[in-house]
Amino acid sequence: MVPKFDNLLQLIDRFPDEKSCHQYLAGQRWDGYMECPHEGCEGDEAWVFKDGIRYKCKCCKRIYTAKTGTIFEASNLPLKTWFVALYLVMHKKGISSIQLAKDVGITQKSAWFLLQRMRTVLGNDKQEKLAGKVELDEAYVGGKNKNRHYDKKVKNSQGRAYKDKTPVFGMFERGGKLRATVITAASGKVLRPLVYSNIEMGSTLMTDEFNVYRDFESNYTRKVVEHGKGKYVDGDCYTNTLEGFWSHLKRGITGIYHWASRKHLDKYVQEFVFKYNYRNLGAQQQMDVFIRNMDVRLKYRDLVA
Ligand SMILES: [Zn+2]
Repeated sequence: MVPKFDNLLQLIDRFPDEKSCHQYLAGQRWDGYMECPHEGCEGDEAWVFKDGIRYKCKCCKRIYTAKTGTIFEASNLPLKTWFVALYLVMHKKGISSIQLAKDVGITQKSAWFLLQRMRTVLGNDKQEKLAGKVELDEAYVGGKNKNRHYDKKVKNSQGRAYKDKTPVFGMFERGGKLRATVITAASGKVLRPLVYSNIEMGSTLMTDEFNVYRDFESNYTRKVVEHGKGKYVDGDCYTNTLEGFWSHLKRGITGIYHWASRKHLDKYVQEFVFKYNYRNLGAQQQMDVFIRNMDVRLKYRDLVA
């Protein structure tokens, strides 16, 4: 019976060397059924080298490891560093590249790249459509003026007031998953494909009075909570779960990361979404979800593109 790990000390004990990390990864990736990761080969049998890390495909005769074809492949960092980093990233508040560099003894540059690749995987969560009661809301994140409060009135006027902020759109299924993504603008044209591809038609949408949401009334039931009138809960209609998520996201980005450029903001958003959705899992289960999301067909070049 392989020991479980729930905290950092147990994780470090569980992975004393590179071999134990590789074997864990192989177990999660192949579950006892090998698949040659080399392009154009479908071999499912291999010889194992003495090191317990390398395999030689019986079909194409090429060598591979559990890292081949994953985001771990192009990195010189030991798998243990990745595993510990993932544990630290999953902390509620997250971790900066400066702090991660100190904690695991790598350069800040390596830590930054590691975190960015990790966030790409976090954003690759397999998703079924949301259904039932679904909260919708947008937020405006970042910008230079940290003291400016989010003002709902801004939504109906054009641009100006949040020129330096980036809009983020969120959807939350009550009792289910939360999704959020950086958008170019909170317009019908942008929101339509997001709502239709993410939410089952016929579901009930909980929104504020922002008129863009009127668009969806023909295919969904829409319930409106009138924030403009100071109402935040109207029966079961509220968007408070998303409001809570937004304030957590904003605090995280200004507190830990200080600032996230518009270009990279979505990666941070995905980190917070993943952490929100899997906050009740233990460290080992979180790592297993991460490995599952690490779509092995996704090549390193595509990830950094
Ligand atoms: Zn092969």
